[in-house]
Amino acid sequence: MTITNYPDKIMLIQNSFSTILLDAIQFYPQESKKHKAESHGLLFGNIQKGVFECDYVFPVGNVASRKADEITSNPKVDEAIQNAKHLLFTSKCCGTYHSHPNTLSFKGWAGPSNADVLYSKGLKLPYMIIIAISRNALFEKKLTIECLCGERKEYLYEKKAGGHDAPRETIIEGEAAYIIGKFKKYTFEMRAYKYEDNCLKDINLTSSEAKMLIELIKNDLAIKNLTPEMTYGLRKIEYDFRVLSMPENRNIDRVMQNLQYHINRMKTTNDN
Ligand SMILES: [Zn+2]
Repeated sequence: MTITNYPDKIMLIQNSFSTILLDAIQFYPQESKKHKAESHGLLFGNIQKGVFECDYVFPVGNVASRKADEITSNPKVDEAIQNAKHLLFTSKCCGTYHSHPNTLSFKGWAGPSNADVLYSKGLKLPYMIIIAISRNALFEKKLTIECLCGERKEYLYEKKAGGHDAPRETIIEGEAAYIIGKFKKYTFEMRAYKYEDNCLKDINLTSSEAKMLIELIKNDLAIKNLTPEMTYGLRKIEYDFRVLSMPENRNIDRVMQNLQYHINRMKTTNDN
């Protein structure tokens, strides 16, 4: 399959959204000077009706600092991809993710660096997810997640610039969906890119898991208070959000009813 056949939409399903966020927090540097410590991992999944459903992510570990001249290959990553081919059949490795830890959030902080564009070229996998993250709140905040939409860009490797510099950016047609949020003392922004025609391009990033979390927040259901009996309901809600984002879905009313049924059940169990 050529890269152009891969859809311009990634959906993080099951626990893949929370794993990317937890991994970024895990590797967030504890000392403010070491801001180059990034999380790094692989995205596994399958194409389902025009959407790349990422059902599994595999954290590879900390990438201390990638220099422009040593990013074309990473033996540890190559080995993990090769090994997975012999163990995982239902999900295929189609991309990578990594974090951009920063002391401050700013516009474009989840955008690919010049080195990221070169890395994608070397890896020959269609997708890349970047999670920009900062820990700048004085007090722990309530979990908030938002799914937003904004302009699309393409990013071309700039030979004259350094690895940590910005690549050459051009605004392209259409809009791309992305996810932002706050968790404890952290603020994050997650974006997805596809490598095509020598550039990385913004594509749509959505998550049925993130939407399930948003629904729980909306209904005042705190995750740590949920009981094991609610697991089935949570899985159904996450699945309902997958169905709702399918383009040719004809059962919206029925899915919405099912979703509401499980939310109501959790609310009544929670009140008792
Ligand atoms: Zn990067």
